[in-house]
Parts: sequence; C-alpha cells; structure tokens
Amino acid sequence: MRAWPLLLVLVVTCSTRRKDVFPAEAPDAPQDASRDASRDASRGSAVRAGAELKRTGDEIIVCGRLFHTGARVVTWMDASGFDAYRPHRWRDPSQTAARDREGANRYGTRRRGLPVEIAEPVHRRGWKLKELQKVVSQVVVHYDAAGTAAQCFKVLHDVRGLSAHFLLDVDGTIYQTLDLKERAWHAGTANDRSVGIEIAQIGAYRDLETLGRWYAIRQGRAALTLPKWVSRGALPDHLYRPARQQPVRGRVHGVEYVQYDYTDAQYEALARLLATLARVFPNAPLDAPRTADGAVATRVIDDPLGFAGVLGHYHLTTGKVDPGPALDWPRLLQRAKAIR
Ligand SMILES: [Zn+2]
Repeated sequence: MRAWPLLLVLVVTCSTRRKDVFPAEAPDAPQDASRDASRDASRGSAVRAGAELKRTGDEIIVCGRLFHTGARVVTWMDASGFDAYRPHRWRDPSQTAARDREGANRYGTRRRGLPVEIAEPVHRRGWKLKELQKVVSQVVVHYDAAGTAAQCFKVLHDVRGLSAHFLLDVDGTIYQTLDLKERAWHAGTANDRSVGIEIAQIGAYRDLETLGRWYAIRQGRAALTLPKWVSRGALPDHLYRPARQQPVRGRVHGVEYVQYDYTDAQYEALARLLATLARVFPNAPLDAPRTADGAVATRVIDDPLGFAGVLGHYHLTTGKVDPGPALDWPRLLQRAKAIR
C-alpha cells in the first residue's frame, strides 16, 4: 500500500521525461508504440531503421569522417566516382593489377618515419584523425597531363598503378579516390606525409604544338577542345575556357615552358579544397615555398620534405614540371585564405 505514492511519482516523472525527450510528431514519423523504440532518444529525433543518410555532396572523407568543402565532391563510393581501392582495372575489370605492375594495390600505408607514439596505436587499431593530423604536413598539387579526371584515373589506375587522393576535373568537380588516411602514390618520398591532388590539364610544353591540339579559338576566345579519344567520364559537354586568354609563359627549373591556365571552376574548387585541408590538417598551412623576394619558387627547394604547406610537384623533384608556370599561386592562396 505504501508503495503507491512512490509509483505515482515515478509514472509522472517518466511521462514528463518522455515529453521532454521526444518533440512533436514529425509528419512522417511512425505512429504505433513499437516504432517508438526506433526513436533516437539521445538526439530527440525520429530515426527509422533502414533510412538512408545522404551526403550533401560537398564532403571529403578523412579517417571515415566527413568534412564540408563548399565544392562539389564525388567520392569513390558514389555512382560516378573513381575507386582507387579496387584491385581491378577500371576499363577492364577482368584484369587485376595495372599494366606495368605486379601488385594489385595502387596505394599503401603511411608508415615511414613514424615516431613510436604514432606507429604503435596505428599498428594496433588503424589510423585515427588525431594521429593523421600529426603526420600530414604537405599538400602536393599536380597537373595530370591526361586532360580530364576520367582519363587521369584510367592512366593512373589501369596503366601506371599509381593513385592520388583527389582528381580535380575541368568543370571543378573534385573526385576523391581514397580516404586521406591512405598513402597515395603520387609524389615519391613525399607520399607518407602528403595529400595529392591531380588537376585535369594537358600541361606545360616547350612549344605550342601540343597545346594546339587541345585548345582552339571558339566564339572569339580560347577554349578547351578535348580530343575524341580522351575519356570524359561524367564531364558535361560544355565550352571550358582557361582563366586567362593567352597561353602563359614562365620558367620551371630555369627552363621556359608555355601552358594554358586552369579554368575558373578549377581555381574555385581547388581553393575550397585547400582551405578545407588546412583546417583538417593544421600542420599543412596555406602557403607555398617562396624565394628570397617573396614570390612562389618554381624549382626544387632545399629540404623539400621539411617544408610544411602546399607544394607543386616541381618543388620536390627536377624530373617534374607540374603544376607548371600557369598556376596562379597568388590567386589560389588568397582565395583559399579568404575561404578558410
Ligand atoms: Zn605530378
């Protein structure tokens, strides 16, 4: 008999809590009591088992976690994405391994030079963001010399057995092919500490002959004219123009090259991606190697692996010219800093 008042208090308390935890019924929320169990009490919202949670479409993936960029991102898991995890060739799924490689993987594990306090937990349970943030100190920018993201993936994945975390297409779409915890194969000795971005473009040359096959004057201005044999993937049929009308001439490793500029869409998407990466990886700040007069260097720098920030491939090795003289570093870095 004496328990009744206590029970009444409990019932009142429980019903009050229920009211606090579960807000007003959403229009499509389940009605019967059994479905109440599917409600996420910790968030106070209705969750239906099996409901698909959609990405908004601008997120990159780092150690399984999503980070917004404000630019269009297609990941390796999306229908039109490029999957660098697949051992099979993209264009010939009956074959594993790339044409010139024996192993089936196009990526590896970041492992060289890890201090024991990082190596031990990573060995035990894989990469988590807090360890990855201590290791990633460089973002390496390339042009792909392939022309489109799809053509680039075909060459990297099917032919050369290489990879880059990001492919940036002509229209500004960012394709992520691997989680950033992976060691993509794009920049030799810098792979362990870097994130790699391949910008879709045919690149820089000593003369105009090759560029003449990739660009033409359309409606009075320079425009990209992709050769028919180039894979376009999901790239929309559109007139893509370099940000600057005239081919850009400039020196890399002291040698003069000529190259068309990247598209405005590529600059904007790249700035957003760099701004995102600078926030996710505080040890890779938004700056590039500079000469004594403050200009961005266009040759191999002293101690390339010691630099923390954004590099061109040519800052790492004399064997590479990318991203070429046309990349407008001041424009790119200013915009990225403004976004960040
Ligand atoms: Zn490169």
